[in-house]
Amino acid sequence: MPELACINGNFCPIDEATVSINDRGFQFADSVYEVIVAYDGKPFLMNEHLERLSRSLSLCDMPMDLDELKIEQLIADGLSRSAFSATVIYIQITRGVQERNHLYRDGLTPTVLLTFREKPAADPDRYRDGVGLMSTEDQRWAMCEIKATGLLPNVLAKNRAVRAGFQDAVLVTSDGLVRECTASNIFVIHAGALITPVADESILHGITRDYVLRCAALANVPTDERSMTVEELCGSDEAFISSTMVDILPVTRIDQQNVGDGTVGPVTRALMAAYRQGMPHAAQPA
Ligand code: PLP
Repeated sequence: MPELACINGNFCPIDEATVSINDRGFQFADSVYEVIVAYDGKPFLMNEHLERLSRSLSLCDMPMDLDELKIEQLIADGLSRSAFSATVIYIQITRGVQERNHLYRDGLTPTVLLTFREKPAADPDRYRDGVGLMSTEDQRWAMCEIKATGLLPNVLAKNRAVRAGFQDAVLVTSDGLVRECTASNIFVIHAGALITPVADESILHGITRDYVLRCAALANVPTDERSMTVEELCGSDEAFISSTMVDILPVTRIDQQNVGDGTVGPVTRALMAAYRQGMPHAAQPA
C-alpha cells in the first residue's frame, strides 16, 4: 500500500511531495499540526483533534474554517487511497509562502499538508513491563497548549533520554513541577486516585489525556487535575503516559528509581482495559 502525501488538495507518493523553501513553516516553524490514528479507515477521536487544530490555528492568528479547507474529505480520500489497517494521519498547516520576513503579510494562502503512513506495530513488551522516563528541565516556550511545530526542545530532550536508555524525557520546571513528556501527557496513581497536571498553557491538552479522564470516570477511578512535583511522581504507586501514538503506556521507572514496585499496577491495567473498550476493534493490542 502506498504511503501518501496531499499538498493543497493534490495527492502524490510521499517521497515526491515538496514545499517551497519560502514556506513560513520551513523558515520559522510558523505552522501547527495534528496527528490522528485511523483503524480500518475510521479516524479515532477525529472531532476532538480537529477542534484542537482550530484552536491552535486561532491562537497563532491563523483563524481558518476547516470545512472550507475540506480537511475531513481529504482525510477520507487519503484513507481510502492508502488503505492500511492502521494509519497515522499527519496534518500540518503553515501560514503560507512569503519571502523571508518575520512580519507576515495578510491574506497568505496557507499550505495544507496531510500524510498517510502505516502505523508501526506496538511492542507488546513495553505495555506488559512498562518503560522508564528520564527527568529533564522543561526548556520549551510559554504557550505549550498550541500544537506548534517548533519542537526543537522536545527533539533534544527525547534524544538525550533515549541515548541514556529511557523511553522518553519527562519535562520538569526549575521549581520541580512535572509538566508532560516530549510527545505525551503524564499521569500518576496515588492512593487509588489518578492525578495529572492541569491542562493550562504549560502543557498540550492531549486528546488522549481527556479520553483517559473520561475512561477513569467510567471505571470509577477518582481523578485530580493539579500540579505535581517530581518527588511525588517518583514516589507514586503507578504512572503512565498517554498520547495518540501510544494510547496508555505504563511507566515503571523514573531516573534510577522504580515507580511503586516497578511493575505495571492494577489501576493502570484497569484503565488500559477501559480505554480499549472504546477503541475500534482493529486497534486492540495483543
Ligand atoms: N504532549 C505533547 C508535548 C505532545 O506532543 C503530545 C502529542 O503529540 C501529547 C502531549 C499527547 O497529545 P495527544 O493525546 O493529543 O496525542
